[in-house]
Amino acid sequence: MTDCIFCKIIKGDIPSYKIYEDDNVYAFLDIAEDYYGHTLVVSKKHCENMLDCDSETLAGIMTAVQKISRHYVDNCGFDGVNIINNSGVSAGQSVMHLHMHILPRKADDGVNLWPEREKLGIDLKQLHNQLKLQ
Ligand code: AMP
Ligand code: ZN
Repeated sequence: MTDCIFCKIIKGDIPSYKIYEDDNVYAFLDIAEDYYGHTLVVSKKHCENMLDCDSETLAGIMTAVQKISRHYVDNCGFDGVNIINNSGVSAGQSVMHLHMHILPRKADDGVNLWPEREKLGIDLKQLHNQLKLQ
């Protein structure tokens, strides 16, 4: 896609700090500098997000996410990772090209990506009827 910023990064038209590349993905450091090691794993095929991509593209991206995550833990001094995907504007997606965020974690990094919340008092039986697939 000509006006897609991630397609331009994959083509090399916009510079990036490349971490990894294979036939399916291009991975690079996120420019936000908000989490130490924040990495984006982007599919080489332009899909909008996880909702419209084909399963082969998704499998390729997740295989690379695992490979990079293992490298971060095995060789780079991290203890774990959070994997985040924003699919859709309502979910906070700002670049409409399929990508996964890797946030490498250390035991004592003080990051809390999932703050505790009050119970909402949800009727789980009703919700189950509403959401179940089969
Ligand atoms: P999302 O909000 O899930 O669509 O994530 C998009 C991410 O792309 C954000 O974390 C941005 O910081 C990142 N981003 C946008 N432009 C660039 C760029 N040129 N190089 C690296 N990361 C970028
Ligand atoms: Zn694109």
